[in-house]
Amino acid sequence: IKEVNVVGGGLAGVEATYQLVKEGIPVHLYEMRPVKKTDVHKTSDFAELVCSNSLRADGLKNAVGVLKQEMTMNDSLIIKMARDHAVPAGGSLAVDREGFSHAVTEFIENHPLVTVHREEVTKIPEGPTIIASGPLTSDALAKEIMNLMGNQDYFYFYDAAAPIVTKESIDFNKAFYKSRYDKGDGEYINCPMTKEEFDAFYDALINAEVVKPHDFEEKFFEGCMPFEEIARRGKQTLLFGPMKPVGLEKDGQRFEAVVQLRQDNAVGSLYNIVGFQTHLKWGEQDRIIHMIPGLENASIVRYGIMHRNCYFNSPTYLNPTYQFKNREDLFFAGQMTGVEGYVESAQSGIVAGKNMVRYLKGEELLVYPRETVMGSLAYYITHASPSDFQPMKANFGILPDLEGKVKKKEKKEKYAQRALEKMEEFIHG
Ligand code: FAD
Repeated sequence: IKEVNVVGGGLAGVEATYQLVKEGIPVHLYEMRPVKKTDVHKTSDFAELVCSNSLRADGLKNAVGVLKQEMTMNDSLIIKMARDHAVPAGGSLAVDREGFSHAVTEFIENHPLVTVHREEVTKIPEGPTIIASGPLTSDALAKEIMNLMGNQDYFYFYDAAAPIVTKESIDFNKAFYKSRYDKGDGEYINCPMTKEEFDAFYDALINAEVVKPHDFEEKFFEGCMPFEEIARRGKQTLLFGPMKPVGLEKDGQRFEAVVQLRQDNAVGSLYNIVGFQTHLKWGEQDRIIHMIPGLENASIVRYGIMHRNCYFNSPTYLNPTYQFKNREDLFFAGQMTGVEGYVESAQSGIVAGKNMVRYLKGEELLVYPRETVMGSLAYYITHASPSDFQPMKANFGILPDLEGKVKKKEKKEKYAQRALEKMEEFIHG
């Protein structure tokens, strides 16, 4: 029997390991903590949750809830352990973080087919390998991955992202389409503000709580100023910068300030808020974004983030099976492939693990159906525009449209129902 190397004992690496050992395949799991620490992890446990203890929404009205259900259908270790260690959190699945990662660690360390190596991997191993070293991949391995990709530009150190909202949640009684000075550089959605609205927004913004930056973040901030830091330099900095109203008059009316939203390159159903790269806490982003006229009920599918985030250009280098295009026995999983979030990272580990099993058995690899959230994430990261590829969370906006006319309020339910039916067929069909 062939053995498999898994690099990284995070959410994705653990799932991949589990899928392999379940099929009787021995795994060498390499995890550098505690020998070498990351800037964010605090323990040496596997599957440590680096920030929030929430695996987000749990109902089927939300894509990440559907995703968890799909993962359970695919025998996810992470979701099972999370449910075993759940704490009350309304409609979300939140966990007792210590209990959760202790349980995962115990399971992995005691599994007879897993050999744990507590060491930093500095070269991409020979032989069947899954790399899941995460957004904080150590520098030495990051360099190796860059070399493998043949171009320094293709392993991104991504430090800023503006929030993304769904188009259908924008109130077009207030928002309107227009490019600045009507110059044809694409259709923007504009959310105009009166003086009173802008003043209230500004006050809320400069008083909002930010995530405490880590040392490594400070380095990165120089080149990319968060929105709230620009605001702190004074109202005019915003009004002459990201919220500039000139050229965006409507029917001759000039506004005090305008927030612009740009279509997210790959998918027309999602819009990002221009210039709003931020390190505000997610709850504060909720509050501030919902103060913007037209975005009062906006559904935020990705929050603004500012931290080191290694991910590579999956549209160029990865198949939807998570197999590297230029080396058959090499798979990648986790945040570094461009999926974003705990749950999203874990699910990619399931797919990479299952496909490594099939690769070793000489079977056809699995491409999950696009109608499923797992399939749509794999599709997104391998088919988005390579020139502007950015990480993506689970959301219904990346699933194919529903057939026929469906009432707006029934859409989520229908997406969920279709996804779970397709997954059922895929697994048992
Ligand atoms: P990880 O869970 O980070 O696992 C990778 C593992 O590889 C680590 O254990 C690391 O020590 C190890 N490793 C790295 N390099 C090497 C090497 N050379 N050799 C051996 N081992 C190595 N997502 C959310 O859903 N909610 C949040 O609140 C959230 N907050 C985040 C905050 C920060 C600061 C960051 C960076 C990310 C956050 N994310 C969050 C995004 C993402 O979900 C997590 O980063 C998630 O842990 C990614 O899973 P992963 O398996 O890809 O990587």
